[in-house]
Amino acid sequence: MTTYDRLTANPPPGVDEADVGTEDGEACGRFSEPDEDAPRGYRAKPCPGEMIAEGGFIACDTCGEAV
Ligand SMILES: [Zn+2]
Repeated sequence: MTTYDRLTANPPPGVDEADVGTEDGEACGRFSEPDEDAPRGYRAKPCPGEMIAEGGFIACDTCGEAV
């Protein structure tokens, strides 16, 4: 019986959230809020920052987003 074997390959809970960095040293990858002034069809690029452990929490060194 192998019908359900593929289910074990599913990511653990939480991984299917936005694919952003949450650990020290990970790439941020967050998308900034859409800009009203952005041209039509503009595609936001993911933040190129890196998550840094800082004073007990993890924050991006570029956009400042804290975890
Ligand atoms: Zn960032």
